Amino acid sequence: MSYVLLIEDNPLNAEVVIFLLNSIGVEVKHTLRGLEGSKLARQDCPSLILMDFDLPDIDGRTLALQLKKQLADCGNPPIVALTAQTGKREERIAMGFGCTAFVSKPIDDEEFLALVQKLLTAPRDEISNPAQKPNMTH
Ligand code: MN
Repeated sequence: MSYVLLIEDNPLNAEVVIFLLNSIGVEVKHTLRGLEGSKLARQDCPSLILMDFDLPDIDGRTLALQLKKQLADCGNPPIVALTAQTGKREERIAMGFGCTAFVSKPIDDEEFLALVQKLLTAPRDEISNPAQKPNMTH
């Protein structure tokens, strides 16, 4: 199923993200709970997952790892961390736990939409292995 899955326990934050994505014609399914998000991801294999790292029912790192594992079977759709934390350290943590990109809240509308559009249109292997260079032959 082609939609963006949003896992965010703050209804107001979710409303902003849904409004922005709908404004560029992207369909969003939203859940307030991490475990429900994990179930939906397994069931539907969304084209992109946006996940809050600060959820009441599951630790963000655990959820990110779980999603990453689940999605390996359906082409590794990108996982984007949404977090109120800012800074390189937080970003490294999110990436280390399987996220493709990191967005600090409050989000910058234009940057956020550009990122989503890029992730939705870029070839999958390019996203999953951004640092991988082609093999050199001698
Ligand atoms: Mn939260």
